[in-house]
Amino acid sequence: MRSVRTHALVLPSARAAVSLEAIHLGEPGPGEVLLRMEACGICHSDVFVTSLERLPIAPITLGHEGIARVEAIGTGVTRWAAGDRAGITFLGSTCGSCEFCTSGRERFCPKQTNFGYTLQGALSDAVIAPAAALTRVPSSLPAEVAAPLCCAGWTAYRALREANLEPEQSVALFGYGGLGHLALQIARHRGLRVSVSDPSESKRAQARSDGAELDARGVDAAIVFTAAPTAIPQAFRSLKRGGTLVLVGLSVANYELPLVDTVLKGITVKGSYLGTRDDLADVFLLAAQGILRPHIHTHSLGESPVLLDQLRRGSVSGRLVVVW
Ligand SMILES: [Zn+2]
Ligand SMILES: [Zn+2]
Repeated sequence: MRSVRTHALVLPSARAAVSLEAIHLGEPGPGEVLLRMEACGICHSDVFVTSLERLPIAPITLGHEGIARVEAIGTGVTRWAAGDRAGITFLGSTCGSCEFCTSGRERFCPKQTNFGYTLQGALSDAVIAPAAALTRVPSSLPAEVAAPLCCAGWTAYRALREANLEPEQSVALFGYGGLGHLALQIARHRGLRVSVSDPSESKRAQARSDGAELDARGVDAAIVFTAAPTAIPQAFRSLKRGGTLVLVGLSVANYELPLVDTVLKGITVKGSYLGTRDDLADVFLLAAQGILRPHIHTHSLGESPVLLDQLRRGSVSGRLVVVW
């Protein structure tokens, strides 16, 4: 049996330090493919996983924003062949039969698996993955451009759709990192008025030069991309009557909902997680048309432990992408 030696960014156990480790992969099993990674973005959810008190599996390789080439296929795989380009998102396999799976909302399947959480992730030279979990990626997009679309772009796109806005309406984005900067591009393309809030002065300056206003008051919708829980009350206060608060950034903190304002102002509060498969196809299309242009900083896998620290400190603008 062939064995592939790979380096991977591994979280050895809950709350331990991440490190680069050498791993041996065997042949892909039934329904699986062996992927050779081309690029993988680093997401704040990777940082979130490192902060959890318990992990579903350990050690776990992080990463869920990967672009790869199929190198070998296991038995029973019919939709993929060697040389195909494949994308890895956070969404792994789903049951295919629950009410969510059968209504295009696989992302809420209670039996879902997730790359970099319950499946070994994409921050690795090579990965063995269930073929059913992979997504097609247009070959016209450079790998490092396509990678951030697999989580940041996809999630930002759906969050804006959840805000349910018409052109000329206003949206306030909280957090101008990987998701926020892509949301700004999509929102402007849709003809929305956009404001951005971020504690970092340099990110605010970047947002302004990217076309955002900086004053979030009386907006139709506010979307909280940052994991910093202090942004939520700020976002809530920025809404006008009938406004919508969309929560995206993950943290284990709680938020006390102001009941009087929620009720008397008719505020809608909703969570948004990943998107539909059609959303992801739309995001790739917007990038292929040059409308969506991720700001990326490319690095080697060897730098990834340091990159994760930078992301934890909130000092990253745009998206950090590991390239091979
Ligand atoms: Zn992510
Ligand atoms: Zn399901």
